[in-house]
Parts: sequence; C-alpha cells; structure tokens
Amino acid sequence: MKSTDEMTYFGIVHQVPILQYEGFDYLMDLLRQKKCKSFLEIGTAIGRTALQAASLDPEMKVVTIEKNPDMAKEARQNIESHPNGNQVLLIEGDARETEIPSGPYDVIFIDAAKGQYRRFFERYAPMLAEDGLIVSDNMNFHGLVQHPERTKNRHTRALIRRINDYRAFLDGLEEYETTLLDVGDGLAVTRRKTDV
Ligand code: SAH
Ligand code: MG
Repeated sequence: MKSTDEMTYFGIVHQVPILQYEGFDYLMDLLRQKKCKSFLEIGTAIGRTALQAASLDPEMKVVTIEKNPDMAKEARQNIESHPNGNQVLLIEGDARETEIPSGPYDVIFIDAAKGQYRRFFERYAPMLAEDGLIVSDNMNFHGLVQHPERTKNRHTRALIRRINDYRAFLDGLEEYETTLLDVGDGLAVTRRKTDV
C-alpha cells in the first residue's frame, strides 16, 4: 500500500496534476464538516483524493471516474492495496458519458479536463443531495486566470477562456450559489439556493 505522502510524491515525480496540498486539506475538512457519506470525484488520477476521502469515515462511499487507462491502472493498484479501497468504486471511462450509480452524492468534486467543467456540472448536478456541495478545482489555473498575459500559448489561452466561461456560468445559475476560494489552485464551492 502507498501512503498519502507516497502517492503525493509519485504524483509530483510523474507530473500528475494531483490536488495541491492546500486544496486537498481544505477538501478533506469540508468532507468532515459535511459528514459526507457519498463522494463523487470526476478525474481520479492515481486515486489519492478518493482514498483519503474513504479513510475519513468507514461509512463513506466514493465513486471516482478516470478516462486515461494508464492513470486508471495506477489508481486501481492503489485502491486494491489500500485498507479503505473497498469503499471506492473506480469507473473507467469518459465522465461525459459513463453510467454511474445515481447517488445522491453529498459532495461532487470536479477535477478533470478544464474545458469540460460545464458539461460535467450539467450532467452530475442532478445527482447532488439536497444540501450537497459541488467543488470545482483549478479555478485560478496557476494564477493565469487573473493574469492571462503571462502566457502566449494559444491552447493555454483557450483553457483560460473556458475557465472564465465556467465561472460566469456558475455565477449565472439561478438555483445555485457559488463561492470562489483562493485556496490551492482556486476552488469554487457551489450549493443549491434554499430560498428558490
Ligand atoms: N482528482 C485528482 C487529480 C485529477 S487530475 C486528485 O485530487 O489527486 C485530472 C484527471 O482527470 C486526469 O487523470 C485526467 O486523465 C482525468 N480526466 C480528464 N478528462 C476526463 C474525463 N472527461 N473523464 C474522466 N476523467 C478525465
Ligand atoms: Mg485539479
């Protein structure tokens, strides 16, 4: 079994974009505070966040989706050798189209291809528990969202636009309210409005 630190180290060495420490700690605190029992993660990478979430509570059930077969393989090994691995259901496939248990999920964590966040949100928000939270990672994209002039790369610029579009999309939702947090790479925390 790999420890969380070892998985973090593996992620850094292999340049897997695992959640940065600050965001990771914040998310774990949030799961604890919410007494989250069902957690959906879009974008498993090597399973570090999924396994840590499972470790928080013996009643926690985690569903996590990963489309890259190499990542999924590494994640599966980590899950199978982890004492809390039986609480984690890894679904291999593209989160835009995979079928998953319908929930409801107390917390949904969107942490996959940045250009597709809106698709993920629209697809999975109906599975959110009444008082659940949707957390979206990488809302600052290494500070580039605030400073797009720092890159000339067209692909990167296009992604920055997509993140801004997503932030505007969240902002415009009538039934949800979103708080943007400057932790880690920027987290958006979205909840259903109670007064609609
Ligand atoms: N949540 C992980 C980090 C995920 S990194 C953690 O906290 O450590 C983003 C992952 O999303 C990558 O492994 C990438 O392969 C995966 N991904 C990208 N697009 C996806 C999609 N459409 N469906 C499922 N997984 C996707
Ligand atoms: Mg991320």
